[in-house]
Amino acid sequence: MKASIDSSRCEGRKYCARFAPSVFDVDEWGYGRVTATGDLTDAQLADAQTALTSCPEQAISLTP
Ligand code: SF4
Repeated sequence: MKASIDSSRCEGRKYCARFAPSVFDVDEWGYGRVTATGDLTDAQLADAQTALTSCPEQAISLTP
């Protein structure tokens, strides 16, 4: 699975980086971005799923 963020939805709430710091961080304006390259490990995927359900803007996607 790979993580992505829809930048048109992201409002810079930072839940992604808080719950999955090995998958996401935030840019200089506070908007989320994906730092993990390639397929997520099981641990990254678990954290990314928590981030996905926590993002109030539903900006995070996990795709095969
Ligand atoms: S949690 Fe959602 S809204 Fe907040 S920075 Fe991450 S992707 Fe953007």
